Parts: sequence; structure tokens; C-alpha cells
Amino acid sequence: MSEAESSAAGAAAGEAAAAAAVAPVTARETVYCGVCSLPPEYCEFGSTVKKCMDWLEKNNPSLHQKLYSSEALESKMGTMTLEAQQKAEKDLAKKQQKEELRQEREAAKKKASLVYIKRVERTKRKFVTVVAGIELFDLSVKTVAKDFGKKFACGSSVTKSAAGTEEITVQGDLSEEIWDELTEKYGIDEDNIKQIDESKKKSAS
Ligand SMILES: [Zn+2]
Repeated sequence: MSEAESSAAGAAAGEAAAAAAVAPVTARETVYCGVCSLPPEYCEFGSTVKKCMDWLEKNNPSLHQKLYSSEALESKMGTMTLEAQQKAEKDLAKKQQKEELRQEREAAKKKASLVYIKRVERTKRKFVTVVAGIELFDLSVKTVAKDFGKKFACGSSVTKSAAGTEEITVQGDLSEEIWDELTEKYGIDEDNIKQIDESKKKSAS
């Protein structure tokens, strides 16, 4: 190697080193993928990822290393897992909110629901007590009818209302006792129970 040649090589090496030194700064601003022309960070969203990777490996190994090294991919996987986690958490929160709303609606519905205890005079001095609306409080009409029969030692059966809904017909005038049973045993709020005296209504009109 001549003296001129070696100095030229040295200068070239110096230039290369200088270029390498500034490369990270300029590279970030000016590198566009030679295959899809996007900044290499976005190559993965195109349809030429494999070609893009090969191109980058040849033309900008350090950036290729930064984007596609197993470390980079691993941290990206971590990010994806976190995203998935966040999505799952979001879904769960949505579900919980939905469930809360459902329960609120249910509670509001219950609050607005009424159980009717009707005293009905069948014949003179002979009464039955009809209880309607039990099912609105998630109670089984059949079970409660049975309970009334046992509790009050009287005839108690499930009957159909004119509207086709199930009611409980208890033999005898047991309005007060049934009121107590509904509030104490079944926890129905007093505001949700309405007592109707049909025999009085009839005699009044
Ligand atoms: Zn590309």
C-alpha cells in the first residue's frame, strides 16, 4: 500500500466513523424503508414485512437490530400482553358495570312492585284473603301458599286471577297476619304492600 493510498483509507475510515457517530440522529429522521417506503417502525403494518426486514438488515443493521432483535420482540410481546390484559380488565369492568346496572334496575323494579292483600267477603261473615304480586319479589307463589297454610293452619291455595296471574287465596280474614308474615319472614318493605278491603268497598258503593 502506498503512503497516499493508506492516508486515503484512513480518511475514509474517519469519514465512516464520523458518519456512524451521527447516524443514530439522522437515521431516526431520514430512514424510510426501501421496500414499502414507510419508516421501518411501521413496516409491520404493511404486507411486505418479510421483505422489509431483509432490506433493513442489509441497509441499516443497527435499526434492524433495534426493531427485530429477540429482545425487541420480547418487549413488544410484553406490551401486547399488557394491552391484552388492559382489554380484559376493560371488558371485566364493562361486565361489572352492566351487572350493577341490572341489579339497580331489579332493585328499582322491586321498589315499584306491590303485593296486594285483599280481604274478600265471599258470603256473609265469610272471608278469604287474596295475596297477589308475590312473584315480583322472586318468591315462589306455590311455596308461600304452602307456608301460609302451615303458619295459619288454614286452607291456602294457588289460584288464578282474572288477568291470568297466580295469586294465593287463603281461607279466612288473615290480612294482618299475612302482612306481618310478608314483612317479617319475607322481608318485603311495608311500602310495597297494599291492603285492599273489597268487602268494605262493596258495602260503601
Ligand atoms: Zn417496509
